[in-house]
Amino acid sequence: MRTRLLLAAVTAMLAGGQTKTVTDAEVMRVHRSTLLIDTHNDVPSRTVEGFDIGSRTGTGHTDIGRLKEGGVGAQFFAVYVAASYVNGNRSANRTLQMIDTVRHDIVDRYPNDFVLATSAKDIEEAHRKGKIAALMGIEGGHAIEDSLRLLRDYYDLGVRYMTLTHSNTNNWADSSGDVTDAQVKHHDGLTDFGKQVVREMNRLGMMVDISHVADKTFWDALEASKAPIFASHSSCRALTSHARNMTDDMIMALAKKGGVVQVNFYCGFISQKFRDNDAADTKALDARMAQETAGKNLSEPDRQILSEKLRKEMGLSRATLADVVDHIDHIRKIAGIDAIGLGGDFDGVSCTPIGLDDVSKYPNLTRVLLEKGYSAEDIRKIYGGNFLRVMRAVEAAAGK
Ligand SMILES: [Zn+2]
Repeated sequence: MRTRLLLAAVTAMLAGGQTKTVTDAEVMRVHRSTLLIDTHNDVPSRTVEGFDIGSRTGTGHTDIGRLKEGGVGAQFFAVYVAASYVNGNRSANRTLQMIDTVRHDIVDRYPNDFVLATSAKDIEEAHRKGKIAALMGIEGGHAIEDSLRLLRDYYDLGVRYMTLTHSNTNNWADSSGDVTDAQVKHHDGLTDFGKQVVREMNRLGMMVDISHVADKTFWDALEASKAPIFASHSSCRALTSHARNMTDDMIMALAKKGGVVQVNFYCGFISQKFRDNDAADTKALDARMAQETAGKNLSEPDRQILSEKLRKEMGLSRATLADVVDHIDHIRKIAGIDAIGLGGDFDGVSCTPIGLDDVSKYPNLTRVLLEKGYSAEDIRKIYGGNFLRVMRAVEAAAGK
């Protein structure tokens, strides 16, 4: 009885925002018990330019050493195709180059560290062997150049999710990135062909990813899909007002259909304070960037790395670990523990939360979750259990 009273007191304390003390050993014990699956990482945009993921340069957010330090068990590498490739129909070319960099420059180059995975079973097997499961997700539906044949080719090459749009509306799906742009031809969500794309993804067993899409596209995809759908890297709009984030209604509907929201760590998606300071910070940062890059022709990933370095040097706004946990808490509150996952967006952004600076820092998140009262079982679900459930459901619905 006394124990029960004590437990109730601790729970009340935690509910009141208090935290409990957790030892380093406890953090690592729980962290190592997870199969940590991050569903969005943009380091292929660096490896395709020649970056060696086996080198520990300290630049960017991802390399083999830091993935291991962070206890990452499976990593979805983004086959990111910028909207600019639509001009001149170069999207398929770029998609194939990005798939090649994951397979050739990451997996084949470091076979002792990575193994290509294309199923939930593969992920678990890689983990048992002590290797990092490498998976691929296409970011930007324009990659298929409006052809279901290309979609099937990408599946055959190992792609296991596709984000229906990036920041650009394509010929069959509206994006959240240009929804207010009157110059863009919109479709009010998904076109009939867009619904066919979703159904073909279902038939193949490719996960439907609704990160980046316009709200109406989300609702159309949810209705069209026979399998659960997911957000590979999105956060909560109720906490941080950004069109890229999901409303409570969207999160609850997604969860009801068995899906999962993989929380994005980008400062601009998780910290309202960051957003409020953004105009002033961006002005100051742009001025410094112009100085630093004068006469240089930097690649997009290198610009991003420089921008992050300057942001830290100048002491501009960043998000915190607490912001990440707020988004996790919010999803738990409205949709339950089974609807939460992680999609950090590392190497795709120029601002990461303090304490979650790169892929090696995942144990810090485990610590904060434990301090907040999350159980080891909760953390295992958030870190990968929920995602594996969705992946298995998509696999089970395939071929029908
Ligand atoms: Zn993205």
